[in-house]
Amino acid sequence: MRFIPLRLRIRNHPNVNMNIITKETEELVKNVWKNVDAVCFDVDSTVITEEGIDCLAEFCKKGNEVAEWTKRAMGGGIPYEIALAERLKIIKPARQQIETFLQCKPATLTQGIQELIEYLNKKKIHVYLVSGGFKSLIAPIALKLNIPSERIYANRLKFYYDGEFAGYDTEQPTSRSGGKAIVADNLKKQGYKNIVFIGDGVTDLETTNHAHAFIGFGGNVVREAVKNQSGWFVTDFNVLKRFHEKENA
Ligand SMILES: [Mg+2]
Repeated sequence: MRFIPLRLRIRNHPNVNMNIITKETEELVKNVWKNVDAVCFDVDSTVITEEGIDCLAEFCKKGNEVAEWTKRAMGGGIPYEIALAERLKIIKPARQQIETFLQCKPATLTQGIQELIEYLNKKKIHVYLVSGGFKSLIAPIALKLNIPSERIYANRLKFYYDGEFAGYDTEQPTSRSGGKAIVADNLKKQGYKNIVFIGDGVTDLETTNHAHAFIGFGGNVVREAVKNQSGWFVTDFNVLKRFHEKENA
């Protein structure tokens, strides 16, 4: 295969700056939220306060190199599959490292998320976790929040028999730019009438016009592109819970 410099691969990539996102109105978003039947949450910097892959990298002593890639991936302008592959090339986590990491550094839930998901569960509104991160890091979070594991859409790490890192499953839609939009389209086909996607990053924003509505979340970190293009942008999960309660009283 001919070697193409990374800079050119990024510039020529079909997904970069090609998705024109039409901003939804706040009224439309609020109306979908009022009648929501499935909520998809991004995980990193949304459900939890940190970026799981950065924390894992730090634990594996590769923190600085990887954080730089994460920042670029979340701000847009770089295809997610490249950012993911490059970061994993740096970390190369072994199975044992993942297990030790999960025991030593459990993720921190964002304030108000537990109450919001408890409320949604009680209302029988289906909750999904849709992440460009790894299922092995997200499973304990889902367990804590009473979300069934079949409602996690995330990437899968692969290991050799001896536990050494062997890559990741590139077939998962969440491993690519535009992948979360594909998940939203697939959920729509399952018959949900009001799917709301909530997240902090550009890959979440891509679900606008695929889910029935997108809500930008800035409680942990505010990304300007997301803030500017979200019909409804919130920094506190309590706002969402209170609004839904009031509208459905
Ligand atoms: Mg995120």
